[in-house]
Amino acid sequence: MQPRPAGLLLQEARKRLAAAGCESAALDARLLLQAAAGLTHEAILMAPERMIAAKPRAVFEDFIIRRMAHEPVSRILGCRDFYGRVFRVTPDVLDPRPDTETLIEAALAVVKPGARILDLGTGSGAIIVTLLAERPDATGLATDLSDAALAVARQNAEALGVGNRLVFASGSWFAPVSGMFDLIVSNPPYIPAGDIAGLDRDVKDFDPPGALDGGPDGLQPYRVIAEGAGPFLSPGGWIMVEIGAGQADDVAGIFAAQDFSLKGKHHDLGGHVRCLSFQQAASTRL
Ligand code: GLN
Repeated sequence: MQPRPAGLLLQEARKRLAAAGCESAALDARLLLQAAAGLTHEAILMAPERMIAAKPRAVFEDFIIRRMAHEPVSRILGCRDFYGRVFRVTPDVLDPRPDTETLIEAALAVVKPGARILDLGTGSGAIIVTLLAERPDATGLATDLSDAALAVARQNAEALGVGNRLVFASGSWFAPVSGMFDLIVSNPPYIPAGDIAGLDRDVKDFDPPGALDGGPDGLQPYRVIAEGAGPFLSPGGWIMVEIGAGQADDVAGIFAAQDFSLKGKHHDLGGHVRCLSFQQAASTRL
């Protein structure tokens, strides 16, 4: 491939991505060129005539072809910013979404000094690693059904300096859990199984099916969490779960049936209730 100016390459890539149905064509083209050529946004803005050599140009072309097939930028680059930190993302884990930062904010508002935190279905570890990084005296246990996901979470924990305060356990929901926790968090799979085929290609073709599929009505994991949480929750402890758009009433009902009181509904930037927080109803703690 011949060297070509950055500005021209971007222009062409933008058109190809838009034609392939990519909604954020301009941003994606720029992020992919920055990564392929090792340039900052400013460097491209200030000198669009800068020549991109054959090798980075070939890398960029490969990135654009992948993005045209709707592979998310975070998966192409193998990393994603979440709550101000960079997380490694592989095909084995759900790509952490900005929506999940809603749960982080809600959790940080109640985490007390020295808190013990349990993250069920940790995936990349985005939630628990962020909470431990934000609260340097907290400790955690992260579980996942997938050993491959746990390996990614472990790498993220090490890279972000919380590996010595986080234990990992492989298994389904509470099966590998022991001990008591002041906060139980989870962003479980919550898509109704029958809806998965209709999701965007960026999601259904690239997020692991096991991280999306919440059973026939999308609510199955919430039932398991609500039914199992009691013995692992310290007195006065909190449960916080991410939910899908429109699931708030159903999920609140599932937890109410296990004597958990709804304490907060937390909205994402799109205005949806994205996280619910619960505590045990006072009577059940006597
Ligand atoms: N807890 C992880 C996250 O929020 C994975 C969630 C999942 O796989 N459903 O990114």
